[in-house]
Amino acid sequence: MEELLHKDHLQKEDIVRLLSATGEEMRQLFARALEVKLQYLDNKVHLRGLIEYSNRCRKSCLYCGVRGPNDKVHRYTLTDEEVLDCARQAMELRYGSIAIQSGERSDKAFTDKITELVREIKRLSDGKLGITLSLGEQTEEVYRQWFEAGAHRYLLRIEASNEALYYKIHPHDDRHDFQRRLSCIDSLLKLGYQTGTGVMVGLPFQTVEDLADDLLFFRRKDVAMVGMGPFIPHQDTPLYAYADQIPSDEERLNMTLKMIAVLRLMLPEINMVAATADQTLDPMGREKAIMVGANVIMPNLTPTGHREDYLIYPDKACVGDKPEECQSCLDIRMHAIQHEILYDAWGDSLAFTKRHAPTVSD
Ligand code: SAM
Repeated sequence: MEELLHKDHLQKEDIVRLLSATGEEMRQLFARALEVKLQYLDNKVHLRGLIEYSNRCRKSCLYCGVRGPNDKVHRYTLTDEEVLDCARQAMELRYGSIAIQSGERSDKAFTDKITELVREIKRLSDGKLGITLSLGEQTEEVYRQWFEAGAHRYLLRIEASNEALYYKIHPHDDRHDFQRRLSCIDSLLKLGYQTGTGVMVGLPFQTVEDLADDLLFFRRKDVAMVGMGPFIPHQDTPLYAYADQIPSDEERLNMTLKMIAVLRLMLPEINMVAATADQTLDPMGREKAIMVGANVIMPNLTPTGHREDYLIYPDKACVGDKPEECQSCLDIRMHAIQHEILYDAWGDSLAFTKRHAPTVSD
């Protein structure tokens, strides 16, 4: 174990071994991952104020509570003024960056609206707010348009890097195409976005080998950011039928933590999110993720009246918290684990900034 925890280039069998660790070995893995994170990234935590822009969605992902066919959901889209108010609030709370997430739409009215909002947020913040987008699959042209408007990071989880597993959790049709999702990630990387991807952990049919392959996929793609969280079954989705066949809440959270820890050993300089889903399964879930290698938290800025409508999974943590309460709560929680929130900063991925640093010949 000790040797593996210090090995330079982990192979698939090493990763499987680490992901299978329990008890004292799991604790050793967590301790080593924290040590590596502190060595490369210090104890700093970056914030992205999350704006859940709309729950209208053209997709039918079999796990997601806001999937298009779920007619129990009350659909909403924030007004321009609501989005800009969230951005102003992020400035006031000194968050440094926001993330705009939404159900997937690809019509021109939607894509142009996002361009306009990105430009407006850049203008009102005098260029100071960093903007991450997480708006699903789009054409390369649309990704370019948003990049040129000022967005500089994009999150598109692959959800499952094993194509066969991907089609067990998505319908197999032209709206859910594994190869297109991959090529979207490639487009984002090519355009120069700090690109993030990720998977859900503890899905039905998912094996530890699948999870090891997911980590190898992140390394192969050389992404700047990764977001991984436990799968949480939603009763109004088709995958709920398998809810009794997945590992327990504790096991899914522990596996998520092991995924974060192993990836921190593999890619010490990337940004990794402590997902809200971690805290949904365990009140200390986000702190636990930070203590095993994560370095980003996404406090929710969505107007409270709309949060109940963005329930991608049930019992989502912090749904009722007001943004200013959230800020002081996070400060206290991070201090309690000897971490410090970095305010007024974009909090870019060190892996990305190093790779794109100007060289002497530039
Ligand atoms: N539409 C965009 C996309 O597809 O990337 C962003 C919104 S989508 C709702 C955000 C993420 O929520 C997905 O990437 C997925 O991993 C996660 N998610 C959806 N349903 C979930 C569930 N039941 N449990 C855990 N995470 C879930």
